[in-house]
Parts: sequence; C-alpha cells; structure tokens
Amino acid sequence: MNFELILNEIGENSKLLQSSPVSGGDINEAWMLQTETRKYFLKTNREESINFFHAEADGLKEIASSNAIAVPFVFKTGTIDCVPFLLMEWIEGRKTEHTETELGTKLAAMHQTFHTKFGYGSDTYMGKLPQKNGWHKNWVRYYRNERLKPQLELAIGRGHMPVPRRRSMEKLLMNLDRWLGHHPKPSLLHGDLWGGNWMTGESGNPVLIDPSVLYGDHEFEIAFTELFGGFSQAFYSSYQEAFPLSEGYEDRKPLYRLYYLLAHLNMFGESYGRAVDQIISRYA
Ligand code: ADP
Repeated sequence: MNFELILNEIGENSKLLQSSPVSGGDINEAWMLQTETRKYFLKTNREESINFFHAEADGLKEIASSNAIAVPFVFKTGTIDCVPFLLMEWIEGRKTEHTETELGTKLAAMHQTFHTKFGYGSDTYMGKLPQKNGWHKNWVRYYRNERLKPQLELAIGRGHMPVPRRRSMEKLLMNLDRWLGHHPKPSLLHGDLWGGNWMTGESGNPVLIDPSVLYGDHEFEIAFTELFGGFSQAFYSSYQEAFPLSEGYEDRKPLYRLYYLLAHLNMFGESYGRAVDQIISRYA
C-alpha cells in the first residue's frame, strides 16, 4: 500500500518516517503512520466497499458536531489501488482518575443532543452487517422495523432461527409496544458502544471511535455498555447524575440488548443462541 500517496492527498508534505500495523480491530487492517510532524491512524479494507468507511466517517462527524465528546478528526476517506481507506487523527493518552467520570458526563451530554425524529438519514453498519436506518416518528416502530425485524430475517436466512425461537421472536415483536411505552426522546447515540470503542486522548479525556450512529432511546446505548462490560461504576454514576435513566429501565434493558445479541448470533453463530432465547422467553 502506498502510504505516501494517501498522505499527499491530504497535503501532508513531511516525510513518512514509519508505518506499523495496529492490532485490535475485528474487521479492518489498521496502521500507524508517523511523519516528521505527526501521527495518523489509517484503516484499510480490501473486502468492504467504500460505503463502509463513509458511514464511519459520517458518524464521527455527527458526534463531533454535538460538541459533547471528542472523536478522532477525519482527514479523508477514499480508495487507493482499489482499496478503500479511512485516514484519521491518531489518538493516544493515559487514563487518569477522571477519565471514566468524564466519559459518563460527556456521553450524557451527547445523549442530550436531540433530534425531532428517531433513526438516521443514512445507512450504517453493525460490525460487518449493513444496518438500514431512515427517519421515524415512533421509536418502537423504528426499533421493531429497522432493528429487530431485519436481524430476525437475516437469522432465518442464515439458519439461526429454529421454529420455536422464530415463533417466540415474532410474538415478542407484536408485544413490543407494551414493554417500550415510556416515550423516550431521540438522543444522539454512538450505536456500538462496547468497551473497545472508546479510547483515552492526550489529556486523559475520553474519545469515542468506530460509531454506528442513530438517534434513539439513550437506554439502548446504556443497555449495550452493560452487556459485555468494560465500563466502570464511576462512568455509570456520573452518567446517571447528568442524564438519569427512567423508571423501568431494568425491565427494558434485556429488550435493548436483544438487538446486539441477534446481530452477534448472525455474525458469530449459535454461541449467542442461549442468551437470545433467555430474553425472548421472558418477553414473548
Ligand atoms: P475495527 O473497525 O477493525 O474494529 P477499530 O476502529 O476498533 O477497528 O480499531 C482497531 C484498534 O486500533 C482499536 O482497538 C484501537 O486500539 C486502535 N485505534 C482505533 N482508532 C484509533 C485512533 N484514531 N488512533 C489510534 N489508535 C486507534
């Protein structure tokens, strides 16, 4: 890969001193590019279309425009030798005792960036899975039709929906209004906020990476942070203080985890089947 060519495209004229692979991502190849003046983070992907990086760059810009929390600056998305790439600011820093408290406060501020409708104006990705969006007046309708239903259909197609699971899932979809009738506001959400999707910046500040943005119930995001861990009590305390979760959250939480678990079932297979079944059996 011709890294110099990519740097030239953004007008970076100083010499490339070093390029080294960065590990840790699930999907893309990643690189650190060190020039005489600064470091860059480059992602490339030979298998996905450029839309994949357009969606990520668009999400980062949407979060940046909330002015609530830091994200890496996007220098450029493009293709080089037919390979899509995304070039952004390099993020590096050490956690302080305030980092996670700040993450809670700033995420709460981002979640208090409201839209008039639910969803998003363009499609995104959940991992490698395409995620359709569109604008909806009604949150439950968006969550049912754009989130749970497409994952159900994909799971049927991929052979992850034995008949009893499918029947219960269909029943759950019909009952959704009963459980999610708490009238949330359309908050700006990161959309894929597991522990690996936030980093620490230069001043010990939290930085969000790799979003799959939407405007939706903020509980949807918090429920996902709790699914795989990686978020401290300090984070939850400061979040709750700034933007409290409504009564009944604990009853809605499994329904919000369900989307992510279905997506994992579709991406990684039956090891997620039991967790899906436990939720479906409670709400069907
Ligand atoms: P993927 O889309 O393949 O999951 P990620 O965006 O999660 O890739 O990035 C892979 C790894 O690279 C992350 O785990 C993180 O450690 C590191 N990383 C991501 N973004 C940056 C950045 N802007 N600066 C420095 N390192 C980064």
